Amino acid sequence: MGADGRTRVRGEAMGDFFERIVDLEATEEEAGPLAERMVGRLVAEGVLIRERSREGVYSAGADEGYLPGPGWGRAVHGGAEAGWAPGPVAVVLGRRDHIAGQGEYAAEAVTCPRCGTRTVVIDYPEVPEPDDEVWRPFEEAVAVWRRTGGGSVPCPACGVSVPVAEWDFGEDFALGALAFEFWNWPPLDDGFRAEFGRWLGHRTAHHTGKF
Ligand SMILES: [Zn+2]
Repeated sequence: MGADGRTRVRGEAMGDFFERIVDLEATEEEAGPLAERMVGRLVAEGVLIRERSREGVYSAGADEGYLPGPGWGRAVHGGAEAGWAPGPVAVVLGRRDHIAGQGEYAAEAVTCPRCGTRTVVIDYPEVPEPDDEVWRPFEEAVAVWRRTGGGSVPCPACGVSVPVAEWDFGEDFALGALAFEFWNWPPLDDGFRAEFGRWLGHRTAHHTGKF
């Protein structure tokens, strides 16, 4: 639930939720200009308007977002539904670790891009907490990456030191310098998400979660 207990049209009992598209490849330098181009495109398509609002935005990395435009329905599965008023779309700039879900802070597993060995971090459902011994080097490297863009972690299996941004963290944890968070939109259409990725020109991650 939203911290203020707000309810929305059709959103009662659901709280405030988001869908997030993370650009996995844009550098911090590319992120700002790319975000501008994407917003321009979404405005041209009628999905967003230029006007921004803070209302209903609970992003960790942004305090406002662009309001939906008259054509927002083309972005969602099944088109616009009468009575649904989507919230703003926040553009999150800067190197961040993005996590799906609600309140989690670690990846479930890490896979070494050199040797392919997968190491479990959170052993659901046995131990619903990250294994600190496994996760700590990643947490520290992510902190370095956020500050400098560097940071690496030696693989527990093959011993090779791999840049943290190259590790595979699974579907629910992503490192990126540009993300878009759709607050309280109906489920985004698969075709729209694919198109969105083509406009970015980069690989993306897709998250859903709740505030
Ligand atoms: Zn390895």
